[in-house]
Amino acid sequence: MSQGRYPKLVVDLSKLRHNIERVQNMCQDNGVEIAGVIKGCTGLLECAQQFDRAGCKFIASSRLEQIEPLKGRGIAAPLMMIRVPMLSEVEEVVRLTDISLNSEVEVLKALNRQAGIQDKEHKVILMADLGDLREGFWDKDELLETALMVENDMYNLKLAGVGTNLGCYGAVAATSEKLQELVSCAEAIEEKIGRELEFVSGGATSSLPRIIEGTLPSRINLLRVGEGILLAKDLQELWGYDMSYLYKDAFVVRAEVIEVKNKPSHPVGEIMFDAFGNQPTYNDRGMRTRALLGLGKVDYGFPEDLVPMEDGIEVLGASSDHTILDIEDAGREIKVGDTVDFRISYSNIVYLTNSGNMERTYI
Ligand SMILES: *Cc1c(COP(=O)(O)O)cnc(C)c1O
Repeated sequence: MSQGRYPKLVVDLSKLRHNIERVQNMCQDNGVEIAGVIKGCTGLLECAQQFDRAGCKFIASSRLEQIEPLKGRGIAAPLMMIRVPMLSEVEEVVRLTDISLNSEVEVLKALNRQAGIQDKEHKVILMADLGDLREGFWDKDELLETALMVENDMYNLKLAGVGTNLGCYGAVAATSEKLQELVSCAEAIEEKIGRELEFVSGGATSSLPRIIEGTLPSRINLLRVGEGILLAKDLQELWGYDMSYLYKDAFVVRAEVIEVKNKPSHPVGEIMFDAFGNQPTYNDRGMRTRALLGLGKVDYGFPEDLVPMEDGIEVLGASSDHTILDIEDAGREIKVGDTVDFRISYSNIVYLTNSGNMERTYI
């Protein structure tokens, strides 16, 4: 029989800590520090604490609402805002964080003003867009000019470095050539300001392959890593790197079976539209044993990204509040009230940690 309330997100903090330390050691061996990115798990304090205790250089998130609850909770690492700030949130960015990534002069001016009002020094990293086409200066001269403006005119800001983001919108790879471009931007700025920049921040999880292969330009000294630590899945499954030394199940979702029946595998009747307005196709495999779970797309987003942790169980699909499994070939008899565990993907974890419906257990 099941224990407790479901669905439940089971977070293994020692596995998470293991992943943080392994990735951190790998990076530090290459002279690279890590900003631990906690937006993937919606900033869960317990997870942020693991990044902090492991000694990450920064704790980072794209959302202030995830950073604010960390204040006064004993997190020692400085906090980093990694989504370029909205003009309307600069007051909070200065109040809640120590450093932010930036790409707009207007926002930098507002940050400078706020830092003056709050009598604080706020550090900024200027972002270069090297082709992924999300945030960052496209024009390198504009990047240089802005850097000089921060350095010379914005007395309450500290120009801490330059950074880039790759492999997010444009799916552009963080090749050593791309990262060398970032280093060149840093060097052009350094030549003008007559000092070394503290950080050259060469991307996220998608830059870890350069560390693994030993092809990261040596000036890159900061990566902002989330997925590659939390789930450690993408580099293994999408990129084909051997990441077997990292746990893929630091986060597991456990759901309760609410119905078990033999049913046809093809819907019976005229096929129109599903709950989300799609017109799907179905594979007819005859009568099969199916199980229904008490969680659905509202909780985790995309059913195709859930991976059952037992052989012989297949996710057939889902609606908002139900997930449908084929359990015909399961290795045990699955009954109503039993639970089934799944490994999850980045797309799932962002929903699961946001869903008010999920219980959470830390082990
Ligand atoms: C989300 C994000 C990261 C972390 O990305 P992962 O792929 O989870 O490592 C790093 N930098 C920026 C700017 C981000 O938005």
